Amino acid sequence: MKRTPLVVGNWKMHKTGTEAIRLIEDLRKSSLPSNVEVAVCPAFTALSDAGSALRDSPIRLGAQDMYWEAQGAFTGEVSPLMLAAAGCRYVIVGHSERRQFFGETDVWVTRKVQAAFAHGLVPILCVGERLEERDAGRTDRIVTEQTEMATGELSSEQVVNLVVAYEPVWAIGTGRSATGEEANRVTGLIRRALGRRSGGASAQTRILYGGSVTPDNAAEVFGQPEIDGGLIGGASLDAGKFTAIVRAASRERGNL
Ligand code: PEP
Repeated sequence: MKRTPLVVGNWKMHKTGTEAIRLIEDLRKSSLPSNVEVAVCPAFTALSDAGSALRDSPIRLGAQDMYWEAQGAFTGEVSPLMLAAAGCRYVIVGHSERRQFFGETDVWVTRKVQAAFAHGLVPILCVGERLEERDAGRTDRIVTEQTEMATGELSSEQVVNLVVAYEPVWAIGTGRSATGEEANRVTGLIRRALGRRSGGASAQTRILYGGSVTPDNAAEVFGQPEIDGGLIGGASLDAGKFTAIVRAASRERGNL
């Protein structure tokens, strides 16, 4: 089953509009390989500038979060309708920093996944265990529960289009990545959890790995058969590093 590799940059709370334009210009100059889909997720305030800078480029635009209602009295929130109108194709949902620092629950994440599809966006659902859960041998259970909860109501067609990112929380922004083998094992577990409810549709779901991916470890990560690309934080802020990671995905996965 061919799954087009996907590499997504999560810029987190970095880059003003002007800085986003500059980074995108650098990425456009770096002639990214055409057999990997690439997306960048700037902060909300930079989406419009980034969207303009990406015009006529194959690089896709994504957002880092959203609320699930289309509109209303929800001060400070941004809706799926607004993201679609801003030109987003993707939206990251349930990132561990949202869960950890902003109290986001599995129930919220479930609503956001459904709202994204309802508005023509593709959710990038993040799941992953915290260090203490890993140390207690609970990785498989946590990751399976998070996946089942967030995707239980999806149709098989939605499961095909969904993107999942396995992001062990202890590996995000720490410089400590999971080994390729470990990441591949948990990614396979996620695919099986998705498949139990979707009649095997998950064979087509793209599942990414995220957590301290750099140009140095990208080949090991993308060389794993279950892993279809990466969600890249820190290294996506540097055009040279991000391009090197995309090229590694192209070499390891581009001809599948
Ligand atoms: C992330 O933000 O999703 C992430 C994986 O960050 P980093 O690559 O910096 O670990």
